Amino acid sequence: MPAPGAPRTFDVAVIGGGMIGPAVSLGLLERGLRVCILDEGDDVLRVARGNFGLIWFQGKGFGMPRYVEWTRRSAMLYADFAAELKDSTGVDIGHARPGGLELLLGEDELAHRQHYLGQIYQQGGGANYEVEFIDRKQVADMLPNVTLGEDVIGASYSPLDGHVNPLFLLRAMHTRFQQAGGTYLPHHRVSGVRKDGDAYTLDTEGGSVSAPKVVIAAGHGLKTLGPPLGLDIPIRPQRGHIMVTERAQPMLPMPISAFRQTVEGSIMLGVSAEEAGYDDTIDTATLHTIAARAKRTMPQLGNLNIVRTWAALRVLTPDKCPVYAESDSHPGIFGIASHSGVTLAAANAKVTAGWIAGDPPPPEFEAFTVERFHDAPA
Ligand SMILES: Cc1cc2nc3c(=O)[nH]c(=O)nc-3n(C[C@H](O)[C@H](O)[C@H](O)COP(=O)(O)OP(=O)(O)OC[C@H]3O[C@@H](n4cnc5c(N)ncnc54)[C@H](O)[C@@H]3O)c2cc1C
Repeated sequence: MPAPGAPRTFDVAVIGGGMIGPAVSLGLLERGLRVCILDEGDDVLRVARGNFGLIWFQGKGFGMPRYVEWTRRSAMLYADFAAELKDSTGVDIGHARPGGLELLLGEDELAHRQHYLGQIYQQGGGANYEVEFIDRKQVADMLPNVTLGEDVIGASYSPLDGHVNPLFLLRAMHTRFQQAGGTYLPHHRVSGVRKDGDAYTLDTEGGSVSAPKVVIAAGHGLKTLGPPLGLDIPIRPQRGHIMVTERAQPMLPMPISAFRQTVEGSIMLGVSAEEAGYDDTIDTATLHTIAARAKRTMPQLGNLNIVRTWAALRVLTPDKCPVYAESDSHPGIFGIASHSGVTLAAANAKVTAGWIAGDPPPPEFEAFTVERFHDAPA
């Protein structure tokens, strides 16, 4: 027991109970470390509760081959990760990897997609880049319960794409964390981190916590927590809208980047991208655009009622690729930022945690530095 008023001590303090913090924390607990997760209250920016639930490979890693590899690695680890969560907590996160489609409406979209994916292929994905183009007939064969809109001319397809129920994923990770002996500290918004002998002290409204290693997995909170600790990661918010329809008969056997059917039958429609600062209110014009495209792609979607909509803010770096970095000025302080926290959850639990625990960094991390933003020419 710490003396009254003394900080509670752990091996690793993880700031952020969203998508990245709990995933990494599970792996740290597996390595026998004493871990706490500190989080804020409920009325905060928490992207983990507002995302689409895709585990998405195709199109990731433009300009950064290491991100292609990292995404592939996580996609391949997911089935075991999901099974472990289910075995230990009873929560089925609804993981499936049936492959995924990005439907293309018209020749311009096809040409743009071919150019974009072609560059990823050439930058090092090469023969191992598991994405192909298929024509309208092949799309129709994959989606037998769908009548395609007349503008659909084909799709890019990857067998590595899949999806989960992101809220169940969050619940399963939190349940497992506490089951495995982790300490979850809600209402512990970290206001500052200071060096205190061999450890860091984290000051919060709920008392102090001390640990020699600190992981800042705080989503948008990284923007203020990082710089004083030598992690100046230039993240920005980017708003995305999602709409959910009433339940429908099974019609989508696989996720289709902007549409996916949940196991309960609802169809999620997304996902927009607007530069709106920290404004996460709903913009009806954007909803209209999403609905119009959905109807153009699959006219039968127009018959379904929308039952829910929301907007959430992506945590975006300038090149849209992740950051995994340890501070040079404050060894033991790690910062992680990614706008694909669902996709990368399995790799974060299984690999990132090892790096924080003291293993050599995985080869992919050589690319995920903070310096790439500050060294780049203006
Ligand atoms: C519309 C939309 C769709 C998306 N779809 C997908 C998708 O299909 N697939 C995918 O892989 N990703 C998707 N994402 C992205 C994904 O949700 C994020 O990458 C992920 O949630 C980021 O996790 P995080 O832990 O960094 O941040 P968050 O999930 O936001 O969690 C950060 C946590 O840190 C806490 N925090 C912040 N500051 C402090 C502080 N000072 N003290 C204590 N706690 C603090 C917050 O309260 C929060 O709980 C989507 C995002 C959006 C917006």
